[in-house]
This record gives sequence, structure tokens and C-alpha cells, in this order.
Amino acid sequence: MDESKEGVVKIKIQKGESKMLKKVLIANRGEIAVRIIRACREMGIATVAVYSEADKTALHTTLADESICIGPAPSTKSYLNKKAILEAACLTGADSIHPGFGFLSENANFAKICEEMGIKFIGPSHKLIDLLGNKSQAKETMKKAGVPVVPGSKGLISSKEEAVKLASDIHYPVMLKASAGGGGRGIRVAYSQEELEKAYDLVKQEAKISFNDDSIYLEKFIENPRHVEIQILADEHGNCIHLGERDCSVQRRNQKVVEETPSGILSEETRKKMGEVAVKAVKEIGYANAGTIEFLVDKHQDFYFMEMNTRVQVEHPVTEMVTGVDIIKEQIKIASGEPLTMKQEDIIFTGHSMEARINSENPDKNFMPCPGKITGLHLPGGNGIRVDTAIYAGYTIPPNYDSMLAKIIVHGKTREESIAKLTSAIAELVVEGTQTNCDFILRILQNEKFKSNRYDTSFIAKELFGG
Ligand code: ADP
Ligand code: ADP
Ligand code: MG
Repeated sequence: MDESKEGVVKIKIQKGESKMLKKVLIANRGEIAVRIIRACREMGIATVAVYSEADKTALHTTLADESICIGPAPSTKSYLNKKAILEAACLTGADSIHPGFGFLSENANFAKICEEMGIKFIGPSHKLIDLLGNKSQAKETMKKAGVPVVPGSKGLISSKEEAVKLASDIHYPVMLKASAGGGGRGIRVAYSQEELEKAYDLVKQEAKISFNDDSIYLEKFIENPRHVEIQILADEHGNCIHLGERDCSVQRRNQKVVEETPSGILSEETRKKMGEVAVKAVKEIGYANAGTIEFLVDKHQDFYFMEMNTRVQVEHPVTEMVTGVDIIKEQIKIASGEPLTMKQEDIIFTGHSMEARINSENPDKNFMPCPGKITGLHLPGGNGIRVDTAIYAGYTIPPNYDSMLAKIIVHGKTREESIAKLTSAIAELVVEGTQTNCDFILRILQNEKFKSNRYDTSFIAKELFGG
């Protein structure tokens, strides 16, 4: 079985033969890098961590079998530095790259270079990343595949006049969105022509600065919706299943804060329909690997496609808790060319799961990030409590990256039990030396509207900030 000489392995994988990947380079940091390293280790796959100068002592750097420094602290010089990452892959003989989320995970050009170099990108093909990463184009594609989409512009909007004309046709409120957007940025709602004209310039600017692409599109603003997304797994042989939904309606500035599954608002009929629509669409576009189709669901249980994320998501653990499926391992098996071993009827959903994102930030100071040294740490544990994190006592949070410190995920028999478990786990968590959003999360969990499942995407703005 000595086939570790790269050439042999690569050629076999390119032919799509069933051959498990042997060495994965993880092009990410923080808890998701650690999550991937652990999955690889359990599978007997070697791991290569890449790290920036600010991450010399980070957990992912020390946990991997090998680690390589890829540049200075700023992510443009390290975790987004394609050349340095690919050199690290060549140097260590990695046969594959797992991009995690954020950074290069939805970068079609990076996936394309990997493909050309014979390094397996653990995700869909660059063509599909390209197609779906352009949100306006993705909408048109999904519409053709029979998926209901939010009514709006056919493709991009090229002038303010066009936006105003369309808005008066579909009626206010409307939303302007950056086609290359992500992470909740480049999105603005307008209730009148005056607001729309202002929003037009702002979104264009924001999109140019954040994504270096100022193309924008317009859609109807769905009022008081729930954000419900479907997790899918598709192999490279045309098989596809879904792993149910996640409700991510607790959001601050269009960014998720607390996620749960099952969603408390879906009827069995709607749930079934959403799963079927998602699987059909994925099959039709020929997508392979893990992916998530995000929908908005209104009070009539009508659902509309919003976007497809072509990577693993931050909130993937809630799905793992209720299905027992390890999404990262499935991604690796799919990328190795293996057919899915599960059929839709094999997926059994048990109980309820909820996740909270713990960030180092100060909610009293407009959620300003709080980097610094963690002087003391106690992580919660116990029955049905999972903590995905890369922090440890004595760790210094660098100021250069996302402020997410940990994800606390619980698994209860019911939604009530999940809320009780998550409340208890967060109350137990101690992070000394930095501010966290823990009290803010507790306020969410203790809110009557949240507890009684009467909430939507406007919940945080309305309930916690008074409108
Ligand atoms: P999820 O649905 O997994 O929560 P998010 O949209 O919140 O996905 O993104 C996950 C991570 O990736 C976040 O840290 C977010 O800031 C980052 N991210 C997502 N899209 C982009 C993008 N286009 N540019 C930069 N960062 C992004
Ligand atoms: P991103 O790529 O940043 O994740 P999305 O298109 O997924 O952007 O939208 C992020 C969030 O913005 C959604 O989860 C939802 O809360 C809100 N949103 C987006 N589009 C609409 C819409 N048409 N109507 C109402 N809310 C929307
Ligand atoms: Mg989204």
C-alpha cells in the first residue's frame, strides 16, 4: 500500500477512482481548522496546518502533524495568499486542501488552480463556485431549476433609474444586495425612493471596498421572515441527500448569532418540500460536496431561495447533533471520489440542537472586537454539550481576524431542553482577560418571544435594541 509518492496518488484521484485522500492541508485557522484536523485524524489522514506569524502558538498550528508559516498577520498576506498556501501544499506533499469557511473557501480561482495542479480542493468544482458565488446569477440558475426565488431584478441592476423603476413595480420595501456579497455585508433595505437612491450609492461603495466588485441586484424585502437553510450532501456520482434544515433567524446585522434545528415554524409539509426542492436543484446543476441552500420563509410558509453557500458552514454542528452525520468527514469522502453510503431514508433526526456563537466583543460598545490575552478559561461540558473552539488559557487573541472564539452546541430532547442546556453551559463558561457576548446571548435565550418561538430575522433589532 505504499502509494504515498504524490504522482501516483494524484493521477488516481483525478480519474475519480475511489481512493481516500492521504494528506489534507487546512487553509484556515481557528476552531474550523481544529475541527477539520480532528476529523482527518479520526480518519487516519495526515494533516498540514498553515499559519500566519500571528498564529505561531495557535491551536491549529500545534495540533496538525506538520505546520508551515505562510506569511505575516494580515490575512491578505497569509490565509488569502494563494501562492504561499499552494507552495506549502507542494512542499509537504499534501494531496488535497480543505478551505473551511471564509478566506478562500468560495474563491473559484483558487479552486481552479488547485484543480490544475492536481491538488483536490475539498469542495465543489471551481465552475460551480463561480456560478453560485455570483448571487444574482445563482438566483437565475435556481429559478430555472424550479426553485422559488425572491421576486426582484432579472440579473444585475445597472443604474439608479433602473432600481427606482423596478422598485415601484414590485413595491417597497426592497433590498439592494451586492452580488459578490457575504458575511452579511453589502445589503441594505429601502422603504422609499429616497432611501433607495441613498442605498444605491452606499451598497455600491460597500461592495467595491469589501468584495472588489460593485455589481448589485435588487429584490423584494420579505418582511419578518425566518431564515431557514437546507444542508445537502452530494457525491461525484450524481447522488444527493439533504440533512434537514437549520433555522438561523437570530441575526445581528444579517449575521447569524444563534442557530437551531429543527426549525420551530416549518410544517412537516413545508419541511419535506424544501428538502426535495433543494435536492432536485443540486442534482440539476451537477453540484458535488457539501453545500447549503439558504431560504427565507414567510408567515404563509412560502419559501424563497436566497443564496447557496458552497462550503461548510459555521453552524454545521447542529445538523451533526441531530443526524449523527459528520459533515467534514463526508466532505473528505466525497472529495476522495467515494459514493455516499447513506440514502435519504437512512437519515433519522433525533431531538433538537442549538448553537451560540461566542465572540470576543463588547456588546456595550457597539460589539467592538476585544483582542487580547485570555488569562483564565473554563469551558463547559456535560451531557449533550459540545464546544468547538481553538482557544486555551494563556492564548492571545490576535486583532487581525474574526472575533468568534467558540461555538457552544447542545443537543436536547426538545427545544426547551436545548435552551436550558445552552443557558446552563453559557452561564458556566468563564473567559477571563477579554470581553465576550455571553450576557447578550443569555438575554436572547431568556427572551419570552424567543422561548415561545415567536421570532423572526428582526428579533435582535426589535427585542434587544428596542426597534
Ligand atoms: P455562515 O452561513 O457559515 O454563518 P457567513 O456568511 O457568516 O456564513 O460566513 C462565514 C465566515 O466567512 C464569516 O466569518 C464571514 O465573515 C466570512 N465570510 C463569508 N463570506 C465572505 C466574503 N465574501 N468575504 C469575506 N468574508 C466572508
Ligand atoms: P450573505 O451572503 O451575506 O449571507 P444573504 O443573501 O444570505 O447574504 O442575506 C443575509 C441575511 O439578510 C439573510 O439571512 C436575511 O436575514 C437577510 N435578507 C437577505 N435578503 C433578504 C430579503 N430579500 N428580504 C428580507 N431579508 C433578507
Ligand atoms: Mg447568507
